[in-house]
Amino acid sequence: MNFHIMTLFPEMVTECLSSSIIGRAKEKGLISLNAVNIRDYSNDTKHHKVDDYTYGGGAGMLMQAQPIYDCYIDIKNKISAANGKAPRVIYVTPQGKVFNQSIVTELAQEENLVFLCGHYEGVDERVLEEIVTDYISIGDYVLTGGELPAMVMIDAISRFVPGVLNNNESAMTDSFHNNLLEYPQYSRPEEWMGKKVPPILLSGDHKKVDEWRLEQSIIRTKERRPDLYEAWLAENPPVEKKKKRRKKEVSEDNGGEK
Ligand code: SAM
Repeated sequence: MNFHIMTLFPEMVTECLSSSIIGRAKEKGLISLNAVNIRDYSNDTKHHKVDDYTYGGGAGMLMQAQPIYDCYIDIKNKISAANGKAPRVIYVTPQGKVFNQSIVTELAQEENLVFLCGHYEGVDERVLEEIVTDYISIGDYVLTGGELPAMVMIDAISRFVPGVLNNNESAMTDSFHNNLLEYPQYSRPEEWMGKKVPPILLSGDHKKVDEWRLEQSIIRTKERRPDLYEAWLAENPPVEKKKKRRKKEVSEDNGGEK
């Protein structure tokens, strides 16, 4: 997976994504990070200016269309020279749909992803119309720039690139898999501050441990994220409801005959 980040602060991205699991994935060649400085594409050879006042007035500066467009075309040409298809271009913006695990798994299927990080008041609408395929937000609040959102997304997507996580770090038991939050976890010692590890986890009975964990995940999701719990429930109706649903399907298959 190749991440291309169009930014005014490439060092912010490269420095922050150089350690731990993501740094290791880069070293192993499982992912690549190409942080490109939009300023290098400015037509203003003297000051490398990339922003200007907004038409109609108002506070703050806006990132101009030309340097961003030229930066994107350069990235796209390089991808195409390496036989890649035209990439999805994500403008990270508070005006986008809110990032979640299903967007993560969808984007993890791509070979190349381009991120556009805005700054100041944002970006001239015309270049967005020209190059952007996806508008994505990391939440309903406003940050000073798009680098942190892009890094959040790159981190989450990288976890689904094969080989990035080792067996001890499986994404399949993490929160949001199947719309459930992860169960509570414990490590040594067996007792701490008078609190004991639930005995079932020491039993060595893997089937019972799995059942306990699923039950805890359900309880936790219901308490903390009722919205997710409802989604999980819709996919996993209680047994009685399941039987009724199956009966209805069979009846419909038979043209409505009981
Ligand atoms: N004036 C813009 C608006 O009201 O939508 C906000 C501009 S913000 C100060 C500067 C840049 O930070 C944006 O262009 C965007 O790239 C990034 N940004 C800020 N908050 C974000 C969020 N919640 N999610 C994703 N990107 C965000």
